[in-house]
Formats: sequence, structure tokens, C-alpha cells
Amino acid sequence: MPRLYPLYSSSKGNCSYIGTRSGGILIDCGVSCRKVQQALAANEIPVSAVRGIFITHEHSDHIKGLKMFTKTYNIPVYAQSGTLDFLYDKEQIMSRAVEISGGTEIGDMLVEPFDTMHDAASPCGYRITSGDSVCAVCTDLGTVTDRVRKGVCGASAVLLEANYDEDMLKNGPYPYELKQRISCDIGHLSNRQSGEFASELLDSGTQSIVLAHLSENNNTPEAAWSAVEGILRRDGHEHGRDHMLTVAAPDGCRYVSF
Ligand SMILES: [Zn+2]
Ligand SMILES: [Zn+2]
Repeated sequence: MPRLYPLYSSSKGNCSYIGTRSGGILIDCGVSCRKVQQALAANEIPVSAVRGIFITHEHSDHIKGLKMFTKTYNIPVYAQSGTLDFLYDKEQIMSRAVEISGGTEIGDMLVEPFDTMHDAASPCGYRITSGDSVCAVCTDLGTVTDRVRKGVCGASAVLLEANYDEDMLKNGPYPYELKQRISCDIGHLSNRQSGEFASELLDSGTQSIVLAHLSENNNTPEAAWSAVEGILRRDGHEHGRDHMLTVAAPDGCRYVSF
């Protein structure tokens, strides 16, 4: 059974492994090469199991360790064209680079990007199908579009952004412009937006949701969990009966099978 391992997840660094202990992919490489190595080892995944690194977008919390990781292990990097151009220009890829537009097969997995609304060159999330099992990684988006719905709906496990608590952001210390940038349509999802989408996902058959990419200044794990779970309860969903909801810490959380 394939698994989704959220290895690192916060505004400081993001990296997930999807697959089994014998083969899979990384989504993003936003922490140091050493930290990726450590997290894989802690989960008993040999680096040789990593067949490719799929990048969602070029912000540093998603690519920080990419240069060193690809230099050390020569694993190919997959991304959409705008992201790849940026990474090339900045010399962040030391291995083979593959531009993706539609689905890409790696081992027994089909990896499909879906465009997201975010302030980057060509940002995307990923839908991963392995046999009959589907999971999705959906972070760094300001709004949930129909493309995102199409990319994520029906996935049994979803890593879903819950970046900020709306009151904490509004009343917090960030300058006005930064508050606007985070909360706009090409920024990040709030806990409330995440909850509304999570409810749609459960209706589409999703069973496990891991809340991810929490802001360290404008959110807490408790606020994210209770805001999202409150919306799910409002809509008639019951934790433990028809879904599991967890929150990824900055240094990850337990894997989810899908
Ligand atoms: Zn970003
Ligand atoms: Zn990010």
C-alpha cells in the first residue's frame, strides 16, 4: 500500500515523500539535503528509493535543499515550464530536468500536476495515482479553483494547506501589504477556506486529510484543526467515522496510507 509521508511542512520548509519503502517520489525539497536524508532514514526509506523530485513552485521553502540534493544523488527533477526555467536560471538543478505538462509515469505511479493560484511562475499541486489508490498534495494557493477541485477531488488522502487563522493574521504584527499578499487570491489558504474545501473533499470520497504548511506566526495546530473540524462537523461529518484529520508539524508527522 503506498503512503504519503509529510516529512517537513511549514512556511520554513516543505518536503513530502510518496510511495513505498522500495520506490517513490519527493514532492518539493524545501529543507537542507541533510534534513531530507535524516527524515527519509527515520522512516526507513533508502534515498535510492527516490525516483524523482517534483517541484510545486520556486519559492525557497520548496527548493532550499534542491541544489545540494540533486548534486549529491543525481535524481531527476520534474516541474512545469515556468518553475523549471527559474530553477535553471538560478542554477538550482544539478541533475536531469524534465518539463511536465500532463501526467508523468514513474514506476507504478502516475503523477499529474494541476495549476494553482499563487504568486509564482507556474505553480501547481500534484495528484498521484498508484494502482487504484490516489493521493494529492495541495499547498500554496490563494483560492480553490475548478482546476484544483478536479486535481484533488476523489483522492483518498490529501495534504491540504491550512496556512493562517484569519483573526490572527488580521490582528497580528505583519505590515498591511504582507497581510494583503497572504490573504489574496494568489496567496495562501486560511483555516476557514481549507475547511470549506475539506468538506467538499470528504463528499468526493476523501478519507484522510493532513493539514499542512501552517504559518508559524499566524496559526497554531490547535486553531487549524478545530477550525477545519468545526466546518466538517457542521456539514455532518464525524471524525473517526468517515474521516481522519491530522495536522503536520514543521518536522512532519506520521505517514498516511492511501
Ligand atoms: Zn509559495
Ligand atoms: Zn510555501
